[in-house]
Amino acid sequence: ALTTGIVGLPNVGKSTLFNAITQAGAESANYPFCTIDPNVGIVEVPDYRLTKLTELVKPKKTVPTAFEFTDIAGIVEGASRGEGLGNQFLSHIRQVDAISHVVRCFQDDDITHVSGSVDPIRDIEVINLELVLADLETVEKRMAKVEKQVKQKDKEAIAEYDVLSKIKDSLEEDKPARSVELSDEEEKIAKGLHLLTMKPVLYVANVSEGELLEADENPKVQKVKEYAANEGSQVIVVCAKIEAEIAELEGDEKQEFLDELGIAESGLDQLIKAAYQLLGLETYFTAGEQEVRAWTITEGTKAPQAAGVIHSDFERGFIRAEVVSYEDLATEGSMSAAKEKGKVRLEGKEYIVKDGDVVHFRFNV
Ligand code: GDP
Repeated sequence: ALTTGIVGLPNVGKSTLFNAITQAGAESANYPFCTIDPNVGIVEVPDYRLTKLTELVKPKKTVPTAFEFTDIAGIVEGASRGEGLGNQFLSHIRQVDAISHVVRCFQDDDITHVSGSVDPIRDIEVINLELVLADLETVEKRMAKVEKQVKQKDKEAIAEYDVLSKIKDSLEEDKPARSVELSDEEEKIAKGLHLLTMKPVLYVANVSEGELLEADENPKVQKVKEYAANEGSQVIVVCAKIEAEIAELEGDEKQEFLDELGIAESGLDQLIKAAYQLLGLETYFTAGEQEVRAWTITEGTKAPQAAGVIHSDFERGFIRAEVVSYEDLATEGSMSAAKEKGKVRLEGKEYIVKDGDVVHFRFNV
């Protein structure tokens, strides 16, 4: 399963946020595909469409879809030189598919900052520099390896060397590999290098309790936003302490607390949605009287493989998929009305399932 790793310097609020994630956490029994590991938190994906489908279909049970956050502890300055838990830290980042980078924006004199003051950009750069240095080493090693074949005029080696050079130039200016403009062909080559700075990043600005409402005017948050915009990344603002409190509440209680705070959606819910998108994940639904349920696929998944997410038998015996978009179903109000209006399509093996599709699979057992 695709996962996003939570990273950040010590004392920025990572554990507090991760605890909120596991606290709000999904029943792992519902999600057998998820990893059971103390460093992995399973989150349910909030989705208003699932709520609406439940109102329409009135099933016995509703099950949201879920995915994983991985807590990656132990970054220190000098990680790329193998200091502290450096090597371990980098190898953990190598295993995740996207990065949620927690940045301290809250001021609290009781909580020590590793560098003595709160400066989000300096903090971001400390971590990003370690990742850049680690990648630079990978790239240089690889260049030394393909050099010989380049001399022998090997076409593939020349193409790879070219990509490596572009990335190296960028890394030498302290810019991540993901900021290099590459053609589709080059992108494929770059993916094979498994670089740390190629992974998509989401910055999580952790602000004080009192600053959550005016976060937009917070100069520290503004700086993080500018930095992120420069490399094409997104920023989510949270107050980890409040998220930990919200995570203990459910349903009406949670809504009341949010209303009291004057916020429409918890920071954690925003983070979950943004991380889901960053991983390239999409949701389709099944909607029967027994169960209305959301399922996760990666962008571009064809119908049989989407069916396989439910059960491997569904993929093996796939015949056809009956598909209606969530919008059409919500507009028509029921499956039978949608059918009458001709909004329900029969799709075959080559159909690419879209985000929001409501699907009924037909299969042989
Ligand atoms: P980590 O080292 O990054 O995992 O940081 P922790 O989550 O352990 O947080 C370090 C300290 O900062 C703890 O005492 C937290 O209670 C505190 N902390 C975390 N988030 C906030 C916040 O939003 N506001 C305030 N005031 N303190 C926070």
